Amino acid sequence: MRRLIILSALALPALFAQNTGFSVGNMDKSVNPCENFYQYACGNWIKSNPIPAEYSRWGRFNELQERNQRILKDILETSSAKTTRSPIEQKIGDYYQSCMDEAGIEKAGIAPLQPYLKMIADAKNKGDLGELVGKLHREGVGGLFGVGAGADYNNSKMTIVHAAEGGLTLPDRDYYLSEDAKSVAIRAKYVAHLTAMFKLMGYGTEKSAASANAVMTLETALAKPAADRVARRNPLSRNHPMGVIEFAMMSSSFNWRGYSKGLGLPSMDKLNVANPDYFKAFDKIFGQTSLDDVKTYLNWHVLHANASALPKAFVEEDFDFFRRTLSGTKEMQPRWKRCVQAVDSDLGEALGQKYVELAFGPEAKERMAVLIANLEKALEADIRTLDWMSDETKPRALAKLKAIQNKVGYPEKWLDYTTVQVKSGDFLGNSMRSNVFARKRNLEKIGKAPDPKEWGMSPPTVNAYYSPMQNNINFPAGILQPPFFDAKLDDAVNYGGIGAVIGHEITHGFDDQGRRFDADGNLKDWWTAADGKAFEQRVACIDKQYSDFVATGDVKLNGKLTLGENTADSGGVRIGLLALMDVMKTAPQKEIDGLTPQQRFFLGFAQVWCEGMTDEEARRRALTDPHAPGRYRVNGTFSNMPEFWEAFGCKEGQPMVRGANACRVW
Ligand SMILES: [Zn+2]
Repeated sequence: MRRLIILSALALPALFAQNTGFSVGNMDKSVNPCENFYQYACGNWIKSNPIPAEYSRWGRFNELQERNQRILKDILETSSAKTTRSPIEQKIGDYYQSCMDEAGIEKAGIAPLQPYLKMIADAKNKGDLGELVGKLHREGVGGLFGVGAGADYNNSKMTIVHAAEGGLTLPDRDYYLSEDAKSVAIRAKYVAHLTAMFKLMGYGTEKSAASANAVMTLETALAKPAADRVARRNPLSRNHPMGVIEFAMMSSSFNWRGYSKGLGLPSMDKLNVANPDYFKAFDKIFGQTSLDDVKTYLNWHVLHANASALPKAFVEEDFDFFRRTLSGTKEMQPRWKRCVQAVDSDLGEALGQKYVELAFGPEAKERMAVLIANLEKALEADIRTLDWMSDETKPRALAKLKAIQNKVGYPEKWLDYTTVQVKSGDFLGNSMRSNVFARKRNLEKIGKAPDPKEWGMSPPTVNAYYSPMQNNINFPAGILQPPFFDAKLDDAVNYGGIGAVIGHEITHGFDDQGRRFDADGNLKDWWTAADGKAFEQRVACIDKQYSDFVATGDVKLNGKLTLGENTADSGGVRIGLLALMDVMKTAPQKEIDGLTPQQRFFLGFAQVWCEGMTDEEARRRALTDPHAPGRYRVNGTFSNMPEFWEAFGCKEGQPMVRGANACRVW
């Protein structure tokens, strides 16, 4: 239960040796909790935790990631050094070694990219580009659009092909299209980055500049018809089942038959086209762009997708634009961290298997089962008493809640990587072969039922998720540690931490996105019209509140982009508190450090979100991240809660009291 024991057995350097759990020492008691609760709960933590140079955001999640990465490093170093190894140790050990082999990578130069560059150079006409793009997609190189297998919105038990917009390099379409001074400046720096990368690849000055412009022109054209993030959150706008012929006719300038062959798609009659308008526009864009310009664009994507596996000059140039310019990170992470992340990303369930052996016991699973059951019970009680939901919709909401499956820690059955060939001294090859493996595995599901036992996150990941089409909640082992979950602390703090996180994930099944899916994960409306309207009115209140929050400078949060997460925070904290109250009926909680159980609950939640962030990162996240920054996750959520006002004796007129303007859904 106390993974802290295992963790503290490792030698941690001073920066990370401090207490990562809940602590009254993190608070700034000079701040009035009714004025700014986030500052009250996190003030001292923030003061004593400046953002490390290698981070653009530093928060509690990052503290845990650092701890996990040190465990993983130990596993990987042992696996690569051992003489007698299990097949898993060979794969993760050699992958890590190949990534750490900087001298070998330097010596190889861009030679490992040559087969892909040659494939592009060999395309004689635009008809050849279909098969070429298919092959590149199979190898994990993006371009032009996205195609992949996923559950059918209308039949969650069937996997079909989905086609969507794609092929951009910058983090969002807005980066190409916004006219504000900051966006214009970022675009100029992007063109400079493209030019620098082409030069490193060996192009002359003029050719590099022309190539950079060709990429920028094509990506800007592709950005225009792409749907924005808010539209992409709405499953109703993404569900367009279509015959394959009909789809191919929409953009007949592209060779889809060739593409299908290159990617290795099975024959099929229909697919889902997430954004038909995009493919209509793509037809013109592709038709009007010269063969040479598309080839230049594809060269760029090969180069960009593999930048981290190339010599130092490429890695540094890549860091300079994507981390320094876009996120405000000052220094690159040490190589070993980047290599741990590469293994986790490509062989996550092999590395994760070794991780849980060391860092996760069955007792944590049992304790989580109890917590989840209590949270579900609290949401059930809450739904039964809602005054805005009719007796017609309530039983369907309860049926959906009852149908939620829980996954905790790690997969019951581990993914088998036997067919992925991992060679020492071949980082780029290992990475490409892992991509092909993942892609093949994805496409093999077409025509079959999705496997609900599969995981979308690796076990060491410090995160959790809800899957609307599988109607399940997933908590990787990595998040089940302090400050989220600490067996030696009182229930009050744990219900504010992992309890509210569980509540958050369950609530996602009923947020503006999740509510569109029924208990079986099908996109089917189960709400009466009046109840649907009442729900939309309630979330509109949250949308409006968060749209007023400033991310940085003149950039505000996007209330619609962050709506699902903000609703889940508001619901998660409410039912977390309800569950704690229920537990307290039989197991009364004591006042500790002069704080009541209710106060410790709110502090437990708030201290999960203590963080520091660069201005650049705050800006990038405001445009792309569906989650609000920590201070708003805390102050936005609590200022709507009478239970909070009461716990801290806050009065009408104080900033943490919304009073009659408070929003509430659950
Ligand atoms: Zn969430």
